[in-house]
Amino acid sequence: MFQGRCIALASRHGKDKVLARPLQAGLGLTLQLATAFDTDSLGTFSGERERPADAATTCRRKAEAAMAELDLDLGIASEGSFGPHPAVPLLAVGHEWLTLVDTRQGLVVCEQLAHTATNFSQRRAASIADLDSWLRQVGFPHHGLIVSTEALALAIEQALPHADDGLALVETDMRAHLNPTRMASLRRLAFRLVRRLRSTCPACGAPGWGLVATVAGLPCDWCGTPTELVAHERHGCVACDHVLQQPRRDGLSAADPGQCPRCNP
Ligand SMILES: [Zn+2]
Ligand SMILES: [Zn+2]
Repeated sequence: MFQGRCIALASRHGKDKVLARPLQAGLGLTLQLATAFDTDSLGTFSGERERPADAATTCRRKAEAAMAELDLDLGIASEGSFGPHPAVPLLAVGHEWLTLVDTRQGLVVCEQLAHTATNFSQRRAASIADLDSWLRQVGFPHHGLIVSTEALALAIEQALPHADDGLALVETDMRAHLNPTRMASLRRLAFRLVRRLRSTCPACGAPGWGLVATVAGLPCDWCGTPTELVAHERHGCVACDHVLQQPRRDGLSAADPGQCPRCNP
């Protein structure tokens, strides 16, 4: 269903370097780069432009824009978001989405990946000396910051008079071409999407069968009370209504009492 077709990618950030090979090897697709469309028009990491829609929607719109530019019926796009972990405030979490749109078959398939292996971080500083250990931690200059090496000290100096608290904010640049950690996540996600597109719906045979939701309520090992942990995975079809509920992939059937609202309130 994909063999021999061309697929459009909108990216000015070199994402083709990690996406082309899995798409070619796994599905027989040839990646074509759409460069006229400014993906930043749908929002940027550095926050000059707000994202008008959620990540999955933005991702689909990017793919559709690339398809329109290259006049192809198949497109792919990725989108990332980064921020503090919801449960562990000092830990950063990255979330990547990868969406394939196929108008010939009427399919939209989205895979996502959450990972804590991100260098997303920010610091306030009065001078570049304040940032010594932090710069090592975030992998600078191998990983980009919003400002470049020579400009960093100068940028801090210039930012200070405008800061209410006397500190400049320096943060990691999460655009893919400046962030090898993110590129590695994207490569993993590409293989995951390919695997998903190769699995077909047991009811109608459409490609893209896979995880659509998780169901919380894994029972506590001691008292059986449902916890916040995932109890079941729901696998579904992107073309028909077929859904199957399955136990967790890792085989875990009871939650640690430490996670239980009754044993460990
Ligand atoms: Zn189906
Ligand atoms: Zn319990």
